[in-house]
Amino acid sequence: MTPASPQRAENEPPAEIDLNPVFVRPGEASQLPRFVMPERQMSPSTAYQIVHDEAMLDGNSRLNLATFVSTWMDDEAQRLYAETADKNMIDKDEYPATAEIEERCWRILADLWHVPDPGNTIGTSTIGSSEACMLGGLALKRLWQERRSAEGAPTGTPNLVMSAGVQVVWEKFCNYWDVEPRYVPVTLDRLVLDGHGLEQYVDENTIGVVAILGQTYTGLYDPVKQISEELDGIQQRTGLDIRIHVDGASGAMVAPFCQPELEWDFGVARVNSISTSGHKYGLVYPGVGWVVWRDREALPESLIFHVSYLGGDMPTLALNFSRPGAQVLLQYYQFLRLGREGYGLVQRNSLEVAQFLSSAIAGLGPFELISRGDTIPVFAWRLKPGHTRNWELYDLADRLRMRGWLVPAYPMPESITDLVVQRIVVRAGLSRDLAGQLLGVIEEEVAFLDSLDAPLPRAARGAGFAH
Ligand SMILES: *Cc1c(COP(=O)(O)O)cnc(C)c1O
Repeated sequence: MTPASPQRAENEPPAEIDLNPVFVRPGEASQLPRFVMPERQMSPSTAYQIVHDEAMLDGNSRLNLATFVSTWMDDEAQRLYAETADKNMIDKDEYPATAEIEERCWRILADLWHVPDPGNTIGTSTIGSSEACMLGGLALKRLWQERRSAEGAPTGTPNLVMSAGVQVVWEKFCNYWDVEPRYVPVTLDRLVLDGHGLEQYVDENTIGVVAILGQTYTGLYDPVKQISEELDGIQQRTGLDIRIHVDGASGAMVAPFCQPELEWDFGVARVNSISTSGHKYGLVYPGVGWVVWRDREALPESLIFHVSYLGGDMPTLALNFSRPGAQVLLQYYQFLRLGREGYGLVQRNSLEVAQFLSSAIAGLGPFELISRGDTIPVFAWRLKPGHTRNWELYDLADRLRMRGWLVPAYPMPESITDLVVQRIVVRAGLSRDLAGQLLGVIEEEVAFLDSLDAPLPRAARGAGFAH
């Protein structure tokens, strides 16, 4: 029936999927090839059952404290999602109402982030922060290129300066667009990019500096204002005028509501663009990000494409062509549904749960906090040096996984990779009550691990956790 399978490694799954005879219709195959398209059709209900059952084996998203991405939306949002699942964001001419709502959303964000002139700004939705960061980075690169070309200077060796604790998208950006990454090391007493020693990293080929609002490793904020002041000093001394992209994947949807006094957005004059993930603390299901530029001059015209829209002209910029429009509508739904008040309530609640958990975990004894969960609702801890030789945080992560909770442990970035931390991301949906249950489980597992009288045997660790 199915082609002979090639030699398979021992731990690979068998080439056929056995179907449960209860839901196979008479005459339907009871086995399916796993890696080859089936020859014949099957009834939609059988196909549904197969996919449904397989997807059930994923972890429970409520107990997934590794992800930053929304795992809960209310019933009306679910309904809207189902109603609008067919919309393609790129079809601006065919779906002008969705296109109009997209514009309302990025204008709302531009206002939230204090653009100096709301009538002269530009932004777009994206598939997530990764695409948004790529666009922010590309604009910086193009601005630099155009300026250098106008001066008759070479443009062959651009570089981008950032913390070694950046999210992997920035490594990709540099790799894909041929920009030299210049990482400022992270150390235990300097976990964020604070501008210290920045002068050693920047030069006439620096396209910009990335500041992260909510580092994925720890949740800590790079102090944008301080970086900017350091760049002011550098400009006075050297004439270099270097701009900032704020990667606010998480923090750009938390700080406006919970840390309104923090100076990190377009109020800081060097901030050229800001990106965020609508699907993180923007509170939308996966598939939407945003990027906004300070003003139209901050985004070189040469990066913009023009499409016809209601007989008029619609500027677009994106790496993707087709992508879901539903998430953009869901973002607008959340903006309307929650307003500033609601976003503040949701995020403050998550911050409270995060700080409840972080102080309780600090109080258990074996752990030392790296961050407390008072920036974004994310915190990390390490095992106190010298606490035990019998177990490490990876073992605790394994034990918690056996209890259904996903709480990853991973090494810190380059230069302090010896330091292993464990992290919790608190999102809407992790109630105080559920957090209390998690704490009970952590206590039990720590008690078990501390009762060991010899080190746990250690299997080789597979590919690590990606942020
Ligand atoms: C999550 C994250 C990204 C990538 O965002 P996606 O929306 O997953 O593409 C980039 N930067 C930071 C700081 C992040 O936390």
